[in-house]
Amino acid sequence: MRIKAEGLTKRFGDFEASKEVSFEIEDGKLIGILGPSGGGKTTILRMLAGLETPDAGDIFFDGRRVNDLLPQSRGIGFVFQNYALFRHMTVFDNIAFGLTVQKRKKQEIAARVSELLELTGLRGLEKRLPHQLSGGQRQRVAFARALAPQPQLLLLDEPFAAIDAKVRKELRTWLKEMIRRLGITTIFVTHDQEEAVEVADEIMIIHGGRLEQQGTPLDIYRHPRTPFVAGFVGETTVLDRPELLKGFEEIAREARAVVRPEFVEVGTAKELSYPNASERGVVRDVYFRGKNWQVDVELDAGVVTAYRSLEQDALRPGDEVWALVHRIYAFEGETCVSLENAMKSDPMPVYI
Ligand code: ATP
Repeated sequence: MRIKAEGLTKRFGDFEASKEVSFEIEDGKLIGILGPSGGGKTTILRMLAGLETPDAGDIFFDGRRVNDLLPQSRGIGFVFQNYALFRHMTVFDNIAFGLTVQKRKKQEIAARVSELLELTGLRGLEKRLPHQLSGGQRQRVAFARALAPQPQLLLLDEPFAAIDAKVRKELRTWLKEMIRRLGITTIFVTHDQEEAVEVADEIMIIHGGRLEQQGTPLDIYRHPRTPFVAGFVGETTVLDRPELLKGFEEIAREARAVVRPEFVEVGTAKELSYPNASERGVVRDVYFRGKNWQVDVELDAGVVTAYRSLEQDALRPGDEVWALVHRIYAFEGETCVSLENAMKSDPMPVYI
């Protein structure tokens, strides 16, 4: 199902939880709504589901305006944060619930539940009660229950929140594969950027009730459009005086900038790929990160963070080093631009 939202606004008293949010989602896409707590993610999901009424704006499913449709008439499956299984019902009855309410034939229900048990890897557990299942299994029952009436749109609110880290990773992969196989448009809410990046075809970043950016994870990572997105996605440090960085002298004085560790090399002048585009700095802190060192280096422009291979000589706080900043995201007000180190592209001198 294709989804379109136009100018969705929702107020709770004086507070605007959603501010003129507009987006389009293609059929069959897996979308992650990502953002900090309280940003308005769940409010958007609930408006799509019909559980909240927008104060302004329209929602279209396959071109049809659905604002006035009741939740049960919208063709959606909803998985809540705490998955809300019926505690006194078996796995079978939980999955069958939506179909039973629709008064489908017993045989038809049995066939559909059987298909879903297979799909979700729950076969053999159909007679168990929710408390006899692990967290991951309970979550699968919640998916199966939402999928049973063959919804056109699946909405998941923090689907992995209550599950421990390892099972969470497995479930993510499982969900992604299952959604791909079913081809059903799916939107899930998360505040975990790793989860959104790994699972989603596209991400929508919500902050302060606004949609800051929508795009593929790579697109958002490479081309953040707002300062908030640049700082929220990936690991970042903020520089207050980026114009003091070698290769970035052209930046306006009042601009601020964000640097990611992947954009920075730190070491001896010989180790760096463009010594002429590098500058002196002093190591402030060094952390062992398992697969590499994290090195914080103080430059005139501010403190930058870089990773250093365990194969290279270890650095210590106080060491004088060279730092090469390949790229920064500079922002003035609400615009954000990606800038490359200009000294790197200087033509090499030619000696005759
Ligand atoms: P979280 O990740 O913490 O679930 P979220 O991004 O999903 O956050 P929402 O649940 O959409 O955020 O809430 C957005 C804002 O609206 C919050 O400040 C919240 O307190 C407020 N809010 C949500 N529902 C209501 C309500 N029914 N009445 C009043 N305020 C509400």
